[in-house]
Amino acid sequence: MAMTNDDFLDELKALLGDSGVLRHPNDIARYVSDWAGDTLGTPLAVARPANTEQVAEVVKRCYEHDIAMTPQGGHSGLVAGALPDANDQELVISLERLNSVRALDPVNFTITVDAGCILENVKQAAFEHDCDFPLSLGAQGSCQIGGNIATNAGGLNVLRYGMMRELVLGLEVVLPDGRLWDGLNALHKDNRGYDLQQLFLGSEGTLGIVTGAVLKLAPRPTQSRTALLGLPSVQAVIDLYGLARRDCCDLLTAFELIPRRCIELAMEATPELRDPMDSAYPWYVLMEVAATGPVDLGSMLEQLLENGMERELVLDGALASSDTQSAQLWQFRESMLEGQRRRGEHLRTDISVPISAISDFVARASDEVMAASPECEIIAYGHVGDGNLHFNILPPASMADSDKKAHLHELENRLFDVLDDFHGSISAEHGIGRTKQAPYLAGLSPVERELVSGIKALFDPKGLMNLGRILPARE
Ligand SMILES: Cc1cc2nc3c(=O)[nH]c(=O)nc-3n(C[C@H](O)[C@H](O)[C@H](O)COP(=O)(O)OP(=O)(O)OC[C@H]3O[C@@H](n4cnc5c(N)ncnc54)[C@H](O)[C@@H]3O)c2cc1C
Repeated sequence: MAMTNDDFLDELKALLGDSGVLRHPNDIARYVSDWAGDTLGTPLAVARPANTEQVAEVVKRCYEHDIAMTPQGGHSGLVAGALPDANDQELVISLERLNSVRALDPVNFTITVDAGCILENVKQAAFEHDCDFPLSLGAQGSCQIGGNIATNAGGLNVLRYGMMRELVLGLEVVLPDGRLWDGLNALHKDNRGYDLQQLFLGSEGTLGIVTGAVLKLAPRPTQSRTALLGLPSVQAVIDLYGLARRDCCDLLTAFELIPRRCIELAMEATPELRDPMDSAYPWYVLMEVAATGPVDLGSMLEQLLENGMERELVLDGALASSDTQSAQLWQFRESMLEGQRRRGEHLRTDISVPISAISDFVARASDEVMAASPECEIIAYGHVGDGNLHFNILPPASMADSDKKAHLHELENRLFDVLDDFHGSISAEHGIGRTKQAPYLAGLSPVERELVSGIKALFDPKGLMNLGRILPARE
């Protein structure tokens, strides 16, 4: 006789204990929606294994009984990949109890962690040993290392340290049939054959569940300087970036493009924030330089600003002279996200183009979108050093709620058409998940499609692991 779901969950409870399997609607509420407040359905249950062996055992039983699985980290992902689907049949496997730092080697500059460690805690652990784990993003207080690996997260410091892909040396993964792959190497160089590990970076939980990782550390910077600058145009921002890369001895850690509208949204979301300069400017740059050695960062930044002003790239600037002032400047970057979220339904994008094409792209894409929807509002900001833009669109304020989704979808298609002309990417860092699947598939050549489907089939022949993310549920 086939096993019922109740029997299956009783088996899991025997394995994980009562608090290791959640079913009551009150208990599972926080696992079914993400940062943006999106929800698709309820899971069969939420399993909360406490260690790698338990993850492997849960997955093995799901494989035996054909139960679909959704690995879940801090559910801060922005493409609905960690949300259980609408069929109420997926078992959410939360990594939140795998949250220990296993080891830190300050000489090898590595830290070995459980995949459920929250990014902020890993950064803190590194600081305590005078090291830095340099991945930094707005969700670092809630996202987990496993989620960062699964999404190949980027963030604010990619231009200096690279994306998650460049920060991982070793991985431990439970494969979709419950077998454990132990690839926890701490080697900075290793050229043995195919690089299996890299396949999991950006795989969005479709190839297995990451349970542990060896991460690369950097020395902890002993000094940093932050500046918020006002500029006349996006082209001035790009020109200043070129200047900064050279004038700042490659010590640039962040270079963020921010439009005036985002400064206003930040002040709306955090009323304590004051306009940073006497006048308003159409574009701002929030930049940071950091170093470990005896470098005069203050003079370096002042010199850059002088050069920028002489060339009429920089119109005004606020330089932070203390950590508190620096945190205040960064608060604009964080609060503008909350300000946008409060505006309700809007189009969020995460695209990339070559850095040299950013200005032309913003101009062309803005023309295209405004021609189709003159009353919408464009909010384009991003990580300039990575050519990564969040070209977001707020629908016309007067539009009925019921019309917004379709309207924004139409604008997204127009935006992606322009992006195609620039040979850009529809996903620079958030991934494909469910929400970007259609344009992703449309952009694959037949060869790419065959290879991608073949990889999925090799790792997950029964199609149980995060089905319907990246690739469709049924091929
Ligand atoms: C305010 C805000 C700012 C953000 N800024 C950035 C940014 O600058 N750069 C950036 O790249 N992203 C950013 N993000 C997106 C998000 O934080 C990242 O994608 C993050 O890496 C997701 O981690 P998570 O633990 O929350 O994963 P989740 O949202 O829980 O999951 C994301 C995906 O990974 C899978 N997954 C999770 N854990 C595992 C695991 N252990 N093994 C296998 N698969 C797993 C899930 O199934 C899902 O498909 C931001 C999000 C917010 C809300």
